[in-house]
Amino acid sequence: MARYTGPVCKLCRREGTKLFLKGDRCFSKNCAVEKRPKAPGQHGTARKKASGYRIQLREKQKAKRAYGLLEKQFHHYYELAEKLRGETGENMLVLIERRLDNIVYRMGIGTSRAQARQLVNHGHITVNGKVVDIPSYLVKAGDAIAVKEGHKDKPFFAELKNSKISNLPKWLKFDTATLSGEVVALPTRADVDLSIAEHMIVELYSK
Ligand code: SF4
Repeated sequence: MARYTGPVCKLCRREGTKLFLKGDRCFSKNCAVEKRPKAPGQHGTARKKASGYRIQLREKQKAKRAYGLLEKQFHHYYELAEKLRGETGENMLVLIERRLDNIVYRMGIGTSRAQARQLVNHGHITVNGKVVDIPSYLVKAGDAIAVKEGHKDKPFFAELKNSKISNLPKWLKFDTATLSGEVVALPTRADVDLSIAEHMIVELYSK
């Protein structure tokens, strides 16, 4: 599956907020948003007219970039969400939150969504005992997520063993002693920890 491979800190600077795309660096003083809090490029400090379209576009780009999705992939979630009952914007974010790469990130197995996606792609993660190497796989409540047996002693995972995971959301369980966890319940909009005005994305797409 195609993915963005350019410089990621530029994306945060463009959106004017931390999107947490680089793991530990995002929490250090080397974070580019803190060091250079202006949009990238020659006209980064130029004042831009805040039209309705521009605000909607920026909200969409922010969400898309935070989850590491390309336009086609992101729009696909909008189309799926439209067919569900309830608020389209909320449904869209909840669907994306259920992606396996996001779960691996939220459980603290990967330090960024990009790293979590790579762990899934490389076959390190199992769902209900079977290797799932599709980052877009949508988890269900009750799914058991684990690092594959036989991979747990690899240096990357050995380091994770018995470490303390901070910010584990209440809808997920993860035990660093066994490197396994569970999707206790499906997430709700309140569980999405990104500041996104999803109704603006819906307004943009429904034009
Ligand atoms: Fe964004 Fe992280 Fe880079 Fe900071 S360090 S600009 S939060 S990707």
